[in-house]
Amino acid sequence: MVRAGLKGKFLLFFLLILIVPFSLFMAISLRRADDAARQDFRRRLDYAGSLFRATLSEVMNGLRSKVKTLADFDFYLAAKDGFSASTTLPLMQDRLPRLGVDYLALVSNGSTVLLEEGTPPTDVLEKIIPAVCHAPLTKNLFILDNQPWVFAAAEITKLRQADKVHVVVALQLPRDFADPLKSLTGAEFSLLYANHRVLTSLMDIYMKRMVATPADHPDVRQGTIQVLGRTHSFVREEALPGQISEAIQLEITLPESEFLELGRRLQRDLIWFGGLGIILALVTGSLLYLHIGTPISQLAEITTRVAAGDFAIDLASDRGDEIGLLHRNFTAMVKSIREEQEQKLHRMHELHTLFEISNAVNFITDSEELLKFVLTHAVEILGAERGSIMLLDDQTDELVVRTGFGGRYHLLSSTPVKLGHGICGLVAKEGKGRICNAGFRDAEFRNFGSILPVEDIRTLLCSPLKFKNGTTGVINIVNKRDGAEFGENDLSLLNLIASQAAVTIENNKLYELSITDGLTRLYVHRYFLARLSEELLRARRYGLKLSMIMIDIDNFKHFNDTYGHQVGDQVLQRVALTIRDTIRIGIDIPCRYGGEEMAIILPETRLEEAFHTAERIRESIAALSISHPLGDLRITCSLGVASYPGDAHDRDSLVMMADRAMYASKHHGKNRTTPANRLDAGDPVPPRPPSAD
Ligand code: GH3
Ligand code: MG
Ligand code: MG
Repeated sequence: MVRAGLKGKFLLFFLLILIVPFSLFMAISLRRADDAARQDFRRRLDYAGSLFRATLSEVMNGLRSKVKTLADFDFYLAAKDGFSASTTLPLMQDRLPRLGVDYLALVSNGSTVLLEEGTPPTDVLEKIIPAVCHAPLTKNLFILDNQPWVFAAAEITKLRQADKVHVVVALQLPRDFADPLKSLTGAEFSLLYANHRVLTSLMDIYMKRMVATPADHPDVRQGTIQVLGRTHSFVREEALPGQISEAIQLEITLPESEFLELGRRLQRDLIWFGGLGIILALVTGSLLYLHIGTPISQLAEITTRVAAGDFAIDLASDRGDEIGLLHRNFTAMVKSIREEQEQKLHRMHELHTLFEISNAVNFITDSEELLKFVLTHAVEILGAERGSIMLLDDQTDELVVRTGFGGRYHLLSSTPVKLGHGICGLVAKEGKGRICNAGFRDAEFRNFGSILPVEDIRTLLCSPLKFKNGTTGVINIVNKRDGAEFGENDLSLLNLIASQAAVTIENNKLYELSITDGLTRLYVHRYFLARLSEELLRARRYGLKLSMIMIDIDNFKHFNDTYGHQVGDQVLQRVALTIRDTIRIGIDIPCRYGGEEMAIILPETRLEEAFHTAERIRESIAALSISHPLGDLRITCSLGVASYPGDAHDRDSLVMMADRAMYASKHHGKNRTTPANRLDAGDPVPPRPPSAD
């Protein structure tokens, strides 16, 4: 996902930018510092070597000049006295301290010692004296009893004798000979080796050193050793190759701590800085991720939701930077899209409502149902708690509540309202809608005997139902559900609904009039036939039963003749009312078939059930009592019942069968019901054919 991707990229970015270059830099620095330390060490060694060579050659040169002086000058004097031991020795004894040497000898023919002074080292006679006499300038450094000795020899040429006489002097180099190197080179200490033996050094260090690293590994050119409990690094070098008796090696030693200090410090620094760099990279990466990555991820997530059609987002941000601006602008953009969409939806809903109201007349024939339908839609689309429709009574010119919806409207007063009284009366009178957001506090508000507390009416919207320049009623809409006030938009919408509803209501009235019989309020014959065809079609299609009842008032002609047509009309009205009260409302279809004959269509009803209904009707009519100055009048009727598909398969046959059954009832004594399946062959056939539509 986007989040992981950005986070990973941030980390990678900081790793690449900070950690990798930093580590490379530190590694290179460490390498350079190490090289520098080694070079420094090497320089110290070279310096120590050159110092050593200079010091040694100075010693030897001094010794050589001394022995030369001795041979050329002092022995010349001695020779004058005959050059004997007795004459030379006292002379030498006097000279030796001044010469500053440790050993002196007079040698005849290169091997016979004539005279010795000082402490001769071992092997002097057999090996060293012949060597220095024959090659006086080259072989002059010897290791004797683990001590370095420097020899110099010179031939005494002034003597008048055949034998060659040499004077030989020797100097034992002191153990601390190399110590100046220490102070000059900064070395911890230095050692001079020859024949694998330490020549010059302080004794204690020498001892420790010998214990620490056996000197019999002179080939090891560099390494570390433990001296006095500390780790030292050492380097050995040929200091004076081939010049004196043996190859002499010089070793200088530095404590490792000093040698490696820089590297160690750099290593430590590298770890510290590297760790710090990683922490910084992580912290910076995380901070950046939090401040940039997270808001961008949020934005990405929300754009996905918006793309999927979910506009309920909230990206409130108080950041002052570009991301905050992006969030705020995006939120504002989505909000305006959402509002636009909501408006469109609302508008569509309004149009749909208007369409439904105008269309309602096509499928709602019952005027009360139609009013309820219009009101329900108006209350719902205006987001109100409840409403009512009042219609103008043609006779009294007063508004009468015809339907209510929502709240406790069934408790509403049905007190008629005069035109110009109260808000609704004013609206009806003026033919102009009103917004009354003061509700019951409005100066024009009147309470028309409602048993509801008037405080319950907080806001009110009222529009006139207008048809052909006249007002036919009003629609009242009460209290917005969200507690807000009604606005001009609400009033415009209600006006639209009202004008549409007024037309629909009037159309419905006309239609109702066209299909309703004026006297009995039952459906007319034409409507009966049309509905019977429809119901038969439905029954056929869905395999349903269908029954019909035919009713004829007994001896009505006589009744009319006796009590007059007006009373006859009243009877007809009472019979029609009784029929309506006995059948299923909204299901069974009662019609005035003609004259004093009535027919009822009973959809989805079997013959037996229809028979029972017919019987109930017959009994109810027989029980009617019509008050008349001559006394209470009573009537009866004869009924016939027929069913589809048992008795007939088409409309006309069904009507004929019901008619025949009714006729049979007449024939068998009236005030009875005959089902079509009980007809006998001998039953009479009605003299008239069933009416065609
Ligand atoms: P029966 O028992 O055989 O039906 O006898 P009847 O007198 O009812 O005979 P019939 O059905 O032929 O008579 C119908 C009478 O109904 C004729 C007419 O006077 C009366 N009638 C028809 N329509 C109306 C009406 O709208 N108002 C009144 N008052 N009478 C009507
Ligand atoms: Mg009749
Ligand atoms: Mg009759």
